[in-house]
Amino acid sequence: MTLELVGITKKFPGFTLGPLDLKIDNGKVLVIIGPTGSGKSTILNLIAGLVKPDSGSISIDGLDITKMPVHLRRIGITFQNPSLFPNMNTYENVVFGLTKRARKEDDLKITKLLKDLNLLHIIERNTQGLSGGELQKVSLARMLVTNPKIMLLDEPLAHLDVSTKRILRLELRRILIGRRNVPSIYVTHFEDDVYALADYVAVLQNGKLEYTDKIESMLSSQNENHFPFASKMFDEANYVEGEVIRSNGGITTFSIGSNVVEIIGNYNIGTKVGILVKPEDIILSREIVRTSARNMVKAEVTNITNYHTAEGGGVIDVHLKADRFYMIARITEQAMIDLGLHLHDFVFAIFKASSPQIIREE
Ligand code: ADP
Ligand code: MG
Repeated sequence: MTLELVGITKKFPGFTLGPLDLKIDNGKVLVIIGPTGSGKSTILNLIAGLVKPDSGSISIDGLDITKMPVHLRRIGITFQNPSLFPNMNTYENVVFGLTKRARKEDDLKITKLLKDLNLLHIIERNTQGLSGGELQKVSLARMLVTNPKIMLLDEPLAHLDVSTKRILRLELRRILIGRRNVPSIYVTHFEDDVYALADYVAVLQNGKLEYTDKIESMLSSQNENHFPFASKMFDEANYVEGEVIRSNGGITTFSIGSNVVEIIGNYNIGTKVGILVKPEDIILSREIVRTSARNMVKAEVTNITNYHTAEGGGVIDVHLKADRFYMIARITEQAMIDLGLHLHDFVFAIFKASSPQIIREE
């Protein structure tokens, strides 16, 4: 399936969405990131048919569905606050949209899905007492059992605690790309979700799409300040992606271009892993130093910008590049003066193997 939006607009009092153009292919995940009120939910509601556009067209595989009734579209949608029936158990909630016949015919598939989502042990429990993570998984399962042509996810992880979010996010990417014939759109206001889930990224602000691209090219250009809004949005964490070349004794080495990075954990050789390193966790040094930190990458300073903390100035973002390795190190102004750092100097960026958060693997 290919989903395509052409020239879509929608006006509300004081708010205009679009004109929007978007295209997503089979098995790909588009993450739309934007602040609250930027129009994310409206885009999903338009695609699902819950809101009618003022102009423009929406099509699936070339078939125009702009005027098609909601129930004929076969589009799955999950909401930020899952609307489940509290007096029904998990299983009944999951199969709610299916006919009796479909429940019987798809019984094995449904059981496998519940097992994959680790929900089997709670299928008989009322959803009333479930945790936030469990509720989201039930609502995800309810969407998946209907075999939708398109999957739309509206900030499903927004209300979850940090550790549930991390686990569920890794599972979610596997599930979304596992549906090879189905494109998905995931909307969020969290930068981390982009790194964890996206094949394509769109940045939405005030109803306008500022930027869409493949995640790889966005990341490789993030230091060059081509996209002022996007670069502001993407400066809280460094995302680095590479391929595992060695793994034993709980330590894994992966390569990014001509650089290698060590992380904690065991992964199969050839696995693609994505990590986040906080700008605050990177130490800069002029010389090679012997420390207990396992990672030291020689990089060029490509930009030096002020980072505005709540308390005011005094903090500097040093943008670094080494082959396909892009990072920002956040240091104090005084530290930069002491190091005598200038544009195009080479420095060593140092961080511990235990510092990165592993956010993506496939
Ligand atoms: P987001 O999901 O990014 O937070 P929304 O798409 O929910 O943003 O809303 C975008 C803007 O459209 C907001 O200003 C919101 O108040 C307005 N809006 C959304 N739905 C409606 C509606 N049904 N009627 C009037 N205004 C709406
Ligand atoms: Mg919303």
